Amino acid sequence: MAEIVIKNVAKSFGSFQALHSIDLTIRDQEFMVLLGASGCGKTTLLRIIAGLEQASQGEVWIGGRRVDTLPPRGRGIAMVFQNYAVFPHLTVFENIAFGLRMKKLPQAEIDRRVNRTAELMQIGQLLKRYSGQLSGGQRQRVAVARALAMEPDVILMDEPLSNLDALLRLEMRAELKGVLAESKTTTIYVTHDQVEAMSLADRISVMNAGRIVQAATPIEVYRNPATRFVGSFIGNPPMNFLPAAKNGSGKWRVAGVSFDGPDASRDILEFAIRPEDLDIGPGGLAATVRLVEPLGAHILLSCKVGGAPFRAVVDSELNVSPGDTLSLVPKPGRARWFDPETGAAI
Ligand code: ATP
Repeated sequence: MAEIVIKNVAKSFGSFQALHSIDLTIRDQEFMVLLGASGCGKTTLLRIIAGLEQASQGEVWIGGRRVDTLPPRGRGIAMVFQNYAVFPHLTVFENIAFGLRMKKLPQAEIDRRVNRTAELMQIGQLLKRYSGQLSGGQRQRVAVARALAMEPDVILMDEPLSNLDALLRLEMRAELKGVLAESKTTTIYVTHDQVEAMSLADRISVMNAGRIVQAATPIEVYRNPATRFVGSFIGNPPMNFLPAAKNGSGKWRVAGVSFDGPDASRDILEFAIRPEDLDIGPGGLAATVRLVEPLGAHILLSCKVGGAPFRAVVDSELNVSPGDTLSLVPKPGRARWFDPETGAAI
């Protein structure tokens, strides 16, 4: 069992508070992604779990054992960091074998693990090369292979695919997910790439300014963002937001159209809808088309609704031009509502 429990962890660098009271449990064998914009504290949290950084307060538990008082080596963790410390004077084989030799595993077992993980990461043909002669993307795959070869209970990865080109990244992503599930590893994976997060994660922890604002399954984060920030951060193109004014008895007025909405005590809310959750039909939001971008399977429309920018993803068959006015109807059950002051979902 390698459940990871983070209790009330905070971190300050001088007067700057990088993490505010983080509470998070990563279940045994779970694939947890930490997702957030640059500087939100993802790497700092990972480094605290790994023992490379000391928390200012709080505790870290792994597999029922308190580890924040132990050195990194005592925590039973393998890590892949952004700067992938691959030794240039060693061959790819010896880089991957490094930790296995430290553990004094028999040569046959070392051979088996190195070959298997190198194959998975598609670097089997590079095993005899010196790592100093590799490209950045190849070195990154060596670093991932080295961590996987340890067959750890817990693996921490910080943007491990950031140096790969788009196609290889896609392939490696699928491989990684399969391998880690098969080896029953508990994984924490840091990225700022929301597509990567959605495709890999059992659960995503969305971070903003040193806080975890939502920890939930990818579909939950996408469909039911806990805050306006999550709604605007996840999804491409992002969610649309429009002001909504109370119209009496659970009805809300949005850009001149009356909608059923929540029974809130406030008079003003924010109405939100994803660009792909709109149909064309009567009685909808009046949208003036500004820009038409055919994307193959769909068309992305940049419009104005009640003077505010508003995007819609529509069928590629639709015959539409800039200057047209469309009536956009939210799909049933897809509108969301936020408190404009706190940003919390209603
Ligand atoms: P990125 O995606 O760019 O790697 P991140 O979310 O991983 O960003 P962190 O590296 O955790 O962000 O940094 C969080 C904040 O803490 C940043 O504002 C950063 O400048 C600050 N920070 C990190 N390490 C230190 C340090 N050693 N001293 C001072 N400030 C630091």
